[in-house]
Amino acid sequence: MNTSRPEIYLDYQSSKPVDPRVLDEMIPFFTEKFGNPSALHKVGDIATDALEESRREIAKFINADDDEIVFTSGATESNNFALLGYMLKNKRKGNHVIISEVEHISILNIAKYLQMQGFNVTRVPVDRYGRVSIKKLERRITDQTILISIGYASNEIGTIQPVAEIGKLARERGIKFHTDAVAAEGAVDLDVKRDNIDLMSLSSNDIYGPRGLGVLYIKKGARPNPVIQGGGQEKGLRSGTENMPAIVGMQAAARIMKKEMKSEVKRFRGWRDRMIKQILEEIPDSYLNGHPQGRLASNAHFRFDGIEGESILISFKDEGISVSTGSACSSKTLEPSHTLIATGLLHEEAHGSLQFTVGRFNEDSDIDRALEVVPKVVNRLRKLSPIYKARK
Ligand code: PMP
Repeated sequence: MNTSRPEIYLDYQSSKPVDPRVLDEMIPFFTEKFGNPSALHKVGDIATDALEESRREIAKFINADDDEIVFTSGATESNNFALLGYMLKNKRKGNHVIISEVEHISILNIAKYLQMQGFNVTRVPVDRYGRVSIKKLERRITDQTILISIGYASNEIGTIQPVAEIGKLARERGIKFHTDAVAAEGAVDLDVKRDNIDLMSLSSNDIYGPRGLGVLYIKKGARPNPVIQGGGQEKGLRSGTENMPAIVGMQAAARIMKKEMKSEVKRFRGWRDRMIKQILEEIPDSYLNGHPQGRLASNAHFRFDGIEGESILISFKDEGISVSTGSACSSKTLEPSHTLIATGLLHEEAHGSLQFTVGRFNEDSDIDRALEVVPKVVNRLRKLSPIYKARK
């Protein structure tokens, strides 16, 4: 690793630093404001007020009502809670849930678990950009379908799903609609009312809040069974003493994001478009993964013929740039990304992919440097690649 310059971080989808303004608001809740919201004394009241104020602020962030916000330990829990909890609660109404081929692993795995418990799960395919077609989705609805769960946007290739259309279809057919909105947080103006969303998973870290906190938005009438049993906090829906420093942190993060998102997204879009244009123009046999327009402003995801992601990553590491290949959350696995395979790529094509995700603390110079390094690395690796040479 080159130690003469600071690391350039272009992997914001996998983890974000806590915004220092968020941390400032959290700190008192570790120390003098340490109360438990369930306690009936003054110290407890301070925590209760902060809890309800946080709920209000986060509700505003997604245009929900305060009593529709339930705090969890993160998006994995929110996704498990939504799917398992809703299917268990409503099993007399139907036993079928539809997800897509490009869901986050926490959705795929809870869906597998539901199958083991006797529920029917259908995975709707996506097009070459990773988008779900409304027609294909509609064809998979049966009289047993009670839930559709489609992620708002891909945390890997950045493609945004036609969420409003899915919401409309679900509403017309009397089916509840859950969306894992984690990848879209801070990139898209989330509005549960506009998009007819019944259940929505959020994560605090994705808006520069602390890890270990998430939210499940639950519209009235879409109540799941609790999956964590205990002291009955969160109106019995999610037991466990509230993680107040993190809750206050997510509240601050949501408030700041609401104010700054528009200008932030504009900045990201400029960087993203520059990266896409320059890389596709300068590097032969390079391709964009995901939708060319309908994608997150922070995401540029490429495929380079003849080389594989692991060696690109190592080269970037040597250059002092943090990037990602495969899934941003669990990129240590050597399996090709299920999302890229679902878009129709072959295993070896999927392995040659590279993901850049920009964020709040990037600067123009980070993008300049990445754009200098990409062609250099790709050319060098291709010179060493027997597969690439054989094809030429
Ligand atoms: N959904 C999506 C789209 C994600 O990217 C992630 C990972 N950040 C999760 C769910 C799970 O989040 P966590 O690991 O924080 O529970």
